[in-house]
Amino acid sequence: MHPHLWHPYTQAKTAPLPLKVKAAQGVWLELDDGRKLIDCISSWWVNLHGHAHPKIAAAIYQQAKTLEQVIFAGFTHDPAEQLAERLLTKLPAPLSRVFYSDNGSTAVEVALKMAYQYWVNTDRPRTTFLAFEGAYHGDTFGTMAVGARSIFSAVFSDLLFEVEFLPFPAIHLEDQTIEERQSAILQTLKDKLERSPDRYAGIIIEPLVQGAGGMQMCTVEFLQGLRQVSQRYNTLLIFDEVMTGFGRTGDWFACLKANVQPDIICLSKGITGGFIPLSVTVSTEAIYDAFYSDDPTKTLYHGHSYTANPLGCAAGLASWELMQENEPAFKGMETRHLNHFAALQGHPKLEKLRITGTIAAMDIITTDRPGYLNQVGPFIRQQAIERGVLLRPLGNVLYLMPPYCITDEELVQVYGAIAEILDLL
Ligand SMILES: *Cc1c(COP(=O)(O)O)cnc(C)c1O
Repeated sequence: MHPHLWHPYTQAKTAPLPLKVKAAQGVWLELDDGRKLIDCISSWWVNLHGHAHPKIAAAIYQQAKTLEQVIFAGFTHDPAEQLAERLLTKLPAPLSRVFYSDNGSTAVEVALKMAYQYWVNTDRPRTTFLAFEGAYHGDTFGTMAVGARSIFSAVFSDLLFEVEFLPFPAIHLEDQTIEERQSAILQTLKDKLERSPDRYAGIIIEPLVQGAGGMQMCTVEFLQGLRQVSQRYNTLLIFDEVMTGFGRTGDWFACLKANVQPDIICLSKGITGGFIPLSVTVSTEAIYDAFYSDDPTKTLYHGHSYTANPLGCAAGLASWELMQENEPAFKGMETRHLNHFAALQGHPKLEKLRITGTIAAMDIITTDRPGYLNQVGPFIRQQAIERGVLLRPLGNVLYLMPPYCITDEELVQVYGAIAEILDLL
């Protein structure tokens, strides 16, 4: 271990030594010692079109020679304007104002501040947010507060503001009970909103797939129900699409796949194709209007040194073009996963197989403790590395989230490695 580095989400005392990566190309990571790994988690879910893609690299280089960075208060630039315009060609129409920041947690933090201040600015202050059990929205204090109270945030729990949690109606391929569970949750929500109509500033959800909470998936009907209820009882609906955005769910955005129009959407991970940290929080014009005022206290006093960094925006524009070229790849990956699932279904160590778009997940049956600390995770990870594949289970939840350029041959190698590892359990 390097004497001066502190790695994220890593207990340095017990973790295996970090692998040094020398280069990467397509889905392949090339290690210092010459080994090669298929990056089947898209490097923490950010990479879309493969590593070191020449088109994105060229766009960043061009931009760096022209304008690398400028303060975004009082100034603007073409890459920021163009990327906002591109995003709005796909996002549902009521979304119309793009606020830039530089990581997913911050995009969600901004969404919470927009929602909260929206009610203050319109003289109807509200105090609480609704969120979902199992949710993950980031590692800053506000986003920890709306996330599930887990091992990640437990130590800080005294400092987190109060949030009310609803059960998440998780489904898998053979689920028969979903309709009753969904309607029970929507009924609980209605009851809360009816009882305290002025209490909730907004509802936040990871639409279609909860990521770090264990790749839990829900239906489009549930999201549609959520939209109906939130509209009827007049509270804001926030979609955290930091992970689900940019093709991950098999459509450009989960809100498009579900045909739901949220009031605020947060995007980050895939936005630059995995090259440069960047994020956006996009709100409706109605929310923006509540901040548009002669009264300085109505301003959104939020911003970051690198807000709308031109290199990030240029990478975002190049990645957007590749999204258009590769639309069949992310739309078609669900079928490819399903074909491979045929061989895994019925395996005695597996349950709750599930797929949404490019994301495939399953629970490993073990006797160890449930959740993130389940020891089968590190075991699978180690075994996968020995087979040339990067997998990083969330506890006993094994998932695949490859870049869209993964070939059939490479996908066969990944599923082949999984089958071999399952036989070791
Ligand atoms: C990763 C993630 C975040 C946090 O993004 P960071 O860039 O890691 O801060 C927020 N929400 C969801 C749904 C995520 O998957």
